[in-house]
Amino acid sequence: MTYPNTQLFINGQWRDAAEGRTLAVVNPATGQEIGRVAHASKVDLDAALEAAQKGFETWRDMTTSERSKIMRKAAGLMRERADAIARLLTQEQGKPLAEARVEALAAVDIIEWFAEETFRVYGRIVPSRVNLSIRQMVLKDPVGPVAAFTPWNFPINQVVRKVGAALAAGCSMIVKAPEETPAAPAELIRAFADAGLPPGVLGLVYGDPAEISSYLIPHPVIRKITFTGSTPVGKQLAALAGQHMKRVTMELGGHAPVIVAEDADIELAVKASGAAKFRNAGQVCISPTRFLVHESIRRDFEQALVKHAESLKVGDGLADGTQMGPLANTRRITAMEAMTADAIQQGAKVLAGGERMSGDGNFWQPTVLTDVSPQARIFNDEPFGPVAAVRGFSKLEDAIAEANRLPYGLAGYAFTRSLKNADLLSRRVEVGMLWVNMPAMPMVELPFGGIKDSGYGSEGGPEAVEAYLNVRTVSVMNA
Ligand code: NAD
Repeated sequence: MTYPNTQLFINGQWRDAAEGRTLAVVNPATGQEIGRVAHASKVDLDAALEAAQKGFETWRDMTTSERSKIMRKAAGLMRERADAIARLLTQEQGKPLAEARVEALAAVDIIEWFAEETFRVYGRIVPSRVNLSIRQMVLKDPVGPVAAFTPWNFPINQVVRKVGAALAAGCSMIVKAPEETPAAPAELIRAFADAGLPPGVLGLVYGDPAEISSYLIPHPVIRKITFTGSTPVGKQLAALAGQHMKRVTMELGGHAPVIVAEDADIELAVKASGAAKFRNAGQVCISPTRFLVHESIRRDFEQALVKHAESLKVGDGLADGTQMGPLANTRRITAMEAMTADAIQQGAKVLAGGERMSGDGNFWQPTVLTDVSPQARIFNDEPFGPVAAVRGFSKLEDAIAEANRLPYGLAGYAFTRSLKNADLLSRRVEVGMLWVNMPAMPMVELPFGGIKDSGYGSEGGPEAVEAYLNVRTVSVMNA
């Protein structure tokens, strides 16, 4: 599949933007324009809204087996097309082809799991405490048409978690997918369209994110907002949704601590957290970012992490053997330059990398910094890049305090051989997802989401479907 121009998908049809506007799509490995994406205006959004309302009424009234069948068929098409879709994803986003393939195939699992959840959307009957002839029913209904906003780091995964849950609940959805990486999410939507999804159930738009969100969120057709992206933007969108009393799910930034206790298996800690750190060049909301390592093992840990970082083959994601691709956009290069310089200025030492790589594309060396000050920007703002920032600690309580110091609370990692430490960490580290002695495994059947400034709501497990349901009580006296 050669890299395509991406159109809007409105009312079951692929179409150019009404005003004919487009935006450039750039390959971050080469800096070259590879295609264009349609830029929606209000005319397009109005058409998408009208279709979403009709699509909702159609989808809501279909049987669960009809809905589930279409979802499973879409999953099958994704499986068949995964290799071709992965190539598009690598070209527009930069990640190595193997990682892109994993993302495309993970969408299959996610759709299939939610297709089964369709059958489990039900309420309950509560006995009346006063009268046996009263039947009290708790009903769960789809909330209505949803507006979804998704970013560029996992262009398929972040859409499919939302789409899967919304469709399982019986909702329609307008997806505002990322303009920088538009083709892979469009292929996901195409799989649903080709599987026979009725017109209007899913819409896909691109354009000016702020213009689209400020139009869709207050619009009376839209009953629920779901956003994945940065905390500052999430706060703006949640505030706007609040003004219009719209339901909200917010999957926002994180700053994941990795606590490596005195009794940790160092080899395991480096293997699991090193792989996680440099996956997708660190542009992952659950990426390990603050490595807090017990002083007694810090040197050994650092040496092993440096060895791992320096062994990575960095290059174009389409090239054989590439283990880390470029950063997805030049904003990330600017951020890595500023955060690294700031950390060094505040006393950090560079153990590996630390610089942009020469040549075309947005390549940054896999980097390890140590003695990073807690005041350094990289220990406070989400790095979103391939930089591991290490700091030592003496008492586990101090590491937990550092982990909890930031307003973020998305993911965390810990390594220890002691059950007592593992128990303490499980209870005290303030994150939505904690992985102890293992790499992150955010499977669809588990809740996925953060606490504190990392947002609220969940994008996995039955909770993900609940987020798209209204709960109502109907009581009937049958006497
Ligand atoms: P950004 O903060 O402006 O944008 C983040 C995402 O929000 C993008 O997808 C963007 O299109 C979207 N967005 C921005 N303004 C919007 C608006 N008014 N309405 C609707 N959507 C809007 O900047 P960025 O450079 O794309 O990313 C910067 C930071 O965002 C990263 O460093 C990282 O901290 C965070 N981020 C987090 C995730 C995640 O998975 N949680 C994904 C991407 C970016």
